[in-house]
Amino acid sequence: NTFAEIDLGELLDQNIRRCKYVKPTPVQRHAIPIVLGGRDLMACAQTGSGKTAAFCFPIISGIMREQFVQRPRVARTVYPLALILSPTRELSCQIHDEAKKFSYQTGVKVVVAYGGAPINQQLRELERGVDILVATPGRLVDLLERARVSLQMIRYLALDEADRMLDMGFEPQIRKIVEQMGMPNRGMRQTMLFSATFPREIQRLASDFLSNYIFLAV
Ligand code: AMP
Repeated sequence: NTFAEIDLGELLDQNIRRCKYVKPTPVQRHAIPIVLGGRDLMACAQTGSGKTAAFCFPIISGIMREQFVQRPRVARTVYPLALILSPTRELSCQIHDEAKKFSYQTGVKVVVAYGGAPINQQLRELERGVDILVATPGRLVDLLERARVSLQMIRYLALDEADRMLDMGFEPQIRKIVEQMGMPNRGMRQTMLFSATFPREIQRLASDFLSNYIFLAV
């Protein structure tokens, strides 16, 4: 079992080698082909399982093919193609750092936005262009209300540590965010939900946000 057997493309394979990842972890081995195959995914995965790469690799691979699609030109509004939601600033920054390494030389632009820090620097980063946005729910709602980000073009949505986001009370923000992706987009959007636990509230999120999804427990 190697990454080369999973069809991620030569650039991504090079970046994986540069990160010294030799062989996929179980969640990567199963999740990546499911997402590359076009399906939605609900994955039970713990911290340390390699889940970050499990959702970043297929997103980057897909975005590499789509980053040149025409996006609307509306003053100061940016249209990311992928959104990764995570509960905290620390986790968002960690995902951002990894995603940047994985997308080295691909032309895919990754930007992070989180609360508890001045918004202006993040706005300037966004203005330089964004393909993959990593964000905490509260800050993203702020950016949506300011019309600085639009989710109309989102092709990939990943919710990381979904159980923790619900524990922190982010369900209203998450629902507001997903609503903004709009129903017409639903057929174009692939959604991945990662959670360490699978209580009733997470099952409800999965049935509301995912369509015809595969359940993976590793
Ligand atoms: P995560 O569960 O995504 O937080 O990853 C846990 C740690 O494992 C991180 O430091 C990753 O860089 C590392 N990691 C993820 N996938 C692999 C892999 N296939 N081979 C070696 N290390 C990995």
